Amino acid sequence: MYNLAVALEDSARTVPDHPALVLGETSLTYAQVDAAANRVAHLLVSLGVVPGDRVVLSCPNLPQFPIAYFGILKVGAVVVPINVLSKPREITYFLDDAEAVAALCFEGTEELPIGRFMVEGAREAARPPQVVLMTADPATPSPYEGVPALAAAVADLPTRFETVQRRETDTAVVLYTSGTTGRPKGAELSHSNQLMNALTCNRLFDSKPGADTHLVALPLFHTFGATVNLTSGFSLGATLVLLPRFDPQQALDLLLAHRVTVFAGVPTMWWALLRQLSAGGGEGIAERLTEHLRLGVSGGAPLPVEILREVRERLGISIMEGYGLSETSPVASFSLADRPRPGSIGLPVWGVEMDLIDPTDPDWGRVEGADAIGEIIVRGHNVMTGYLRRPEETEAVLRDGWFRTGDLGRRDEEGFYYVVDRSKDMIVRGGYNVYPREVEEVLMGHEQVSLAAVVGVPHDRLGEEVRAHVILADGASIGVEELTAWAKEQMADYKYPREIVLETQLPMTATGKILKRELR
Ligand code: ATP
Repeated sequence: MYNLAVALEDSARTVPDHPALVLGETSLTYAQVDAAANRVAHLLVSLGVVPGDRVVLSCPNLPQFPIAYFGILKVGAVVVPINVLSKPREITYFLDDAEAVAALCFEGTEELPIGRFMVEGAREAARPPQVVLMTADPATPSPYEGVPALAAAVADLPTRFETVQRRETDTAVVLYTSGTTGRPKGAELSHSNQLMNALTCNRLFDSKPGADTHLVALPLFHTFGATVNLTSGFSLGATLVLLPRFDPQQALDLLLAHRVTVFAGVPTMWWALLRQLSAGGGEGIAERLTEHLRLGVSGGAPLPVEILREVRERLGISIMEGYGLSETSPVASFSLADRPRPGSIGLPVWGVEMDLIDPTDPDWGRVEGADAIGEIIVRGHNVMTGYLRRPEETEAVLRDGWFRTGDLGRRDEEGFYYVVDRSKDMIVRGGYNVYPREVEEVLMGHEQVSLAAVVGVPHDRLGEEVRAHVILADGASIGVEELTAWAKEQMADYKYPREIVLETQLPMTATGKILKRELR
């Protein structure tokens, strides 16, 4: 029996006065965060929340997020973090689908009136949960009638709470997959799934107790930030510097001001940081960063080899690339800083296995041989217990403990894995398979190309045609025709993009992943 909340509680006991969370001028120690989470736990008990109940959490990267997250866990309830950009219709869906009994939500800013969405969404839900609002300024009461404000509601509650212990296989967190196909499904992750994954990260990152400062730019409601920053960082007494909305200049300022040692981001964040360094006379900044930044992590989407190379050149660190999904807690594999293989997602992490299957074979027949392409499957302590109340969808992806990812990959002679592409992003042009990622890597090899995203678009005769959306490097002079001609020289005829669209920005998810379905 244990509880994922141990990640916070252990540090509150061992390094109580160490800063846990920093946001602007606000800094909270581990003891303060733990005490605040205990108050949230008392509040939830008073609302009637019991172990196993699901509680929705909607909050940007503010101190309230970890406080509420661990408060929910402490009562033995299940955290359901949702994307803060969700619209009322989506919020209603999450509340209903998770059968949430309560929701803690951030009131939000003017551009992000999350609180209003949340309250309206909750009222529309079939079985309305109790909503508690977190406001930006704790002194401000809730602006909605009958809806309590968190700070006021917990002010007089005790700062001690006896944490409810759970079985290791009990669900700790439900993460909704963004549902590019079908309705969003809630992946049920156990206390053990999440804790093992966090501890695995710490081992890989060679983290020492109380020694690291993370810049948290990944949204904590997403699996990547929740594990790599929050649970891993907290379990070793790291200081988390919060950035509620990613902005490259602000990120650079915080990296320097707090002498950050660990930065984890999606590839577009790394890309934006490099661009900002180039724009802002970055040499001095890059040099100062190298004094303390010891670890760079990327995940969530393929890291272009060009970005890996440039970060190594300019910041003197090898980005460790992780691979995984919400359903795998998320980390399944990691590249190793001392055995870098550009473009590789490395080896399965401790206690996790990976293999490749023929995606068309109903019996999941394995694909053998170096560099043969198959669908990646994962087995180990990180695999979810299933999709919440969806036995059929669970059965479709889980077999003998193996989880099928929907990602195509290959394995080299030494067992290192490479993500070829998502199977749903693969383009079939005139009967030939085109992997967008490969085309993107080639395009980004051109010195005047800064970022590329390749999609398949419907075509009468060929089925699909290859189209590239490209952001040029600053000061680039190349035109579409010249770039297309260059691409044609680099790639087989069936692969090169017949259409190239120049862009100044690309649509992204809240996490910063390029939204290919919007480009299509
Ligand atoms: P969905 O729409 O399926 O819910 P999502 O992006 O919201 O997608 P996540 O669980 O956040 O779901 O992301 C998992 C996916 O991210 C993986 O299936 C894979 O396609 C991609 N991914 C994660 N890490 C890497 C990596 N290092 N290289 C390539 N792709 C990666």
